[in-house]
Amino acid sequence: MTTTTEEKPKIFEALKCGKCGKLSLPPAFACPYCGGDQLSHAPLSGKAEVYTYTVVHMAFGAMAKKVPYTLAVVELQEGVRLMTIVSDADPAKIKIGDRVQFSHFEEGQGPIFKMA
Ligand SMILES: [Zn+2]
Repeated sequence: MTTTTEEKPKIFEALKCGKCGKLSLPPAFACPYCGGDQLSHAPLSGKAEVYTYTVVHMAFGAMAKKVPYTLAVVELQEGVRLMTIVSDADPAKIKIGDRVQFSHFEEGQGPIFKMA
């Protein structure tokens, strides 16, 4: 066997609309703002601020062993918001406006952030 179970790090990127120029997050087949279908890939810095958050105390499946964890809506430097888990956030200390940074992709979860 020459295959490895180690997952290649995926590039954190957005889709840029060729019509209106706005950024959206994949997966998308058309621009959510204008419906344009000329989307190109645009790299993201991964730098973001906490826009709002909630501390999750009960979860199911694979997430059950992670509670309590911080589920946050973060706003990227590029102006795109997304919902993510801030993996190393202290639920008692995290606050709106805290700086976070893209960490990695997790199977079934999408992008995971950490405190910056
Ligand atoms: Zn557009």
